[in-house]
Amino acid sequence: MKVVKTIVELKEQVKRAKSEGKSIGLVPTMGYLHEGHLTLADTARQDNDLVIMSIFVNPTQFGPNEDFESYPRDLERDCKLAETVGVDIIFAPSVEEMYPTDGGIYIRAGRQAEILCGASRPGHFDGVLQVVAKLFHLSEPNRAYFGQKDAQQVAIIQTMVRDYNFPLEIRTVPIVREVDGLAKSSRNVYLTEQERKEAPAIFESLQIAKEEYLASRKVEKAKELAKKHIEDKTTGKIDYFEFLSYPDLKPITNETRDFLLATAVYIGKTRLIDNIIFHTKG
Ligand code: AMP
Repeated sequence: MKVVKTIVELKEQVKRAKSEGKSIGLVPTMGYLHEGHLTLADTARQDNDLVIMSIFVNPTQFGPNEDFESYPRDLERDCKLAETVGVDIIFAPSVEEMYPTDGGIYIRAGRQAEILCGASRPGHFDGVLQVVAKLFHLSEPNRAYFGQKDAQQVAIIQTMVRDYNFPLEIRTVPIVREVDGLAKSSRNVYLTEQERKEAPAIFESLQIAKEEYLASRKVEKAKELAKKHIEDKTTGKIDYFEFLSYPDLKPITNETRDFLLATAVYIGKTRLIDNIIFHTKG
């Protein structure tokens, strides 16, 4: 496995792979790897000749009062873990390497970014698209891998790929969870012992909402029950709890068959997100 820190070096590796007719799978991450990231890499390994994993805590997707500085980082540990699932190249650039200039030209995410995490984190998805578009250009992947954990992010990236004709396929990998149901996240390390005990209530609340909706078809009732569960079982503060169609992220109608149930909850100072995607026949 090679650890590459410069764009020049990455492009050389990509050029060589392309000249040998190799397919490329890209797994973008912010590092501090856990099993969720490793599942993405493992899937990419099965589908492609060359697997590139980027590890870059992207400053442009963090708001001024968010956790960019304190976000956990450990490249040495990440490299050991990535090697176990057969990653070929780690691309771990510095901020200066990725953003040497600021020509004032930005990508702006559209309607899908105005709600859910986009409403609470203004500009977040613009930053995500900026870094993802750059990573797509630099690594020229045949396929890029994203987790359903960030369902809104995948939906927005899919739209960019479609609308701006990126010549690649997006593959989505299901959410990897702890045994008690908590979605794995690099941010889980922020949780105190007590907060960690409360956190599984988030996934429980999503399941409660899904079951209630399937039984009664009443969105508001399902949301109420789910929110009550979070309020009863945690000291957390709900940022949002929403039912939308997926992947277009529009309000539910009688015609909706593909659903996203998504929530963000502050447990202490840590903002955790989780979701369930499900489908009905009618
Ligand atoms: P991050 O490092 O948090 O930016 O995540 C990098 C990629 O890993 C994104 O596509 C995430 O959706 C995905 N990911 C993060 N956590 C999980 C998880 N628990 N299960 C599956 N994919 C995940």
